[in-house]
Amino acid sequence: MTNDAGILQLMDDLGNALAGVAPIAMFGGGNPAQIPDVTKIYGRELKTICEDPARLATMLGNYDTPQGNAEFITAVTEFLNRHYHLDITTANIAITPGSRTGYFMLFNILAGRTGERRRKILFPLVPEYIGYVDQGLEIGMFESRRPIIQKISEREFKYAIDFDALELGEDIAAVCISRPTNPTGNVVTDGELERLGHITRERDMLMLIDNAYGAPFPNVIVPETKLFWNDHTVLSMTLSKVGLPGSRVGIFVGPPKLMKALTSANAIVSLASPNFGQYLAKPLIQSDEVLSLSRESICPFYFERADRARKLMNKHFPSHLPWRLHRYEGSYFFWLWLEGSRLSGMQLYDWLKERGVIVVPGEYFFPGQDIHTWAHGRECLRLNFSRPDDELEKGIPVLAEAIEKAYAAG
Ligand code: PLP
Repeated sequence: MTNDAGILQLMDDLGNALAGVAPIAMFGGGNPAQIPDVTKIYGRELKTICEDPARLATMLGNYDTPQGNAEFITAVTEFLNRHYHLDITTANIAITPGSRTGYFMLFNILAGRTGERRRKILFPLVPEYIGYVDQGLEIGMFESRRPIIQKISEREFKYAIDFDALELGEDIAAVCISRPTNPTGNVVTDGELERLGHITRERDMLMLIDNAYGAPFPNVIVPETKLFWNDHTVLSMTLSKVGLPGSRVGIFVGPPKLMKALTSANAIVSLASPNFGQYLAKPLIQSDEVLSLSRESICPFYFERADRARKLMNKHFPSHLPWRLHRYEGSYFFWLWLEGSRLSGMQLYDWLKERGVIVVPGEYFFPGQDIHTWAHGRECLRLNFSRPDDELEKGIPVLAEAIEKAYAAG
């Protein structure tokens, strides 16, 4: 935790950029956008709570149980059974202080050393979420596999799981994927997920699916997908991507025994999870309003921003150079690949930062890989496209210059 973690650079840049000279484009951080219609709905819920003295006193003055707020857990259980017929009970749920913290606890419950035995978490496909990389309490807790890279058109590509290279050794406790993936916007297909789910279950391993951007909420996902679930699956969701990132509420759905362990870890680490977001979101989950909020306010916002950014990129990016974006299938990011670039993601990051454009170098998203021996790991940038018009209009031409620079440098 005192190492030079990628996530710290990201948070530092975000903080410094905001505190110092105003940058022209913040394509770096993963902060969800503030959407006025969404804020308004939580404002309405907050007002209702404030007008009910007993409820207000309970929200402000009580610790919940380490599993989470009992009414919120019931609301989530009923919601998932109502919409997906999962046939789960409240014992299948654990609430954590944000899903990131939940993963920290889960990874360290499942993997690491017990006596002579060492177990690991496998990312079956990298690039993968920057937030997992530094979470192991022991060195070497993560392994990963390189993807198949499918070039779809002159300007697009898509990653797929390379099942031939999967090799699940005895030491793998669980596989983990984010779907849609942060940083790439990839959605592992239903077919891939079913195959992976089948293999892991047969081997008595868990499959952890980080569903931060997926269905049912915020549902910022382009392809029609099924919600995958079996008794060897852990599915996580978060209120962060439906407008409440500061309230820190992660929702985990998994086997009761593991959810109990997660609850115990939460009791040890946090005593209880913050209850504020659970109070605000519960009525929306009970009434299904969270679905209309996602459909009518959140998705249109991100899809419109993605479209606008894509059009500006097509207009400004040099047509004679081989840049490609990962096919946008969901999440709040674009992933730019400069195949054969002479400058690395890190070098481009520095060059862009000097010109007031903040991005995240791709190098951080390849945990478990030696990117010195794999050019692809040094050829990518993550871009948060959900920025206001003026930032997109000023920042994208600078990105275009960076692409020229990347191929011109010799
Ligand atoms: N998982 C993924 C894939 C994310 O992109 C993010 C946020 O960037 C998180 C988890 C963090 O969620 P939370 O705010 O619930 O910790």
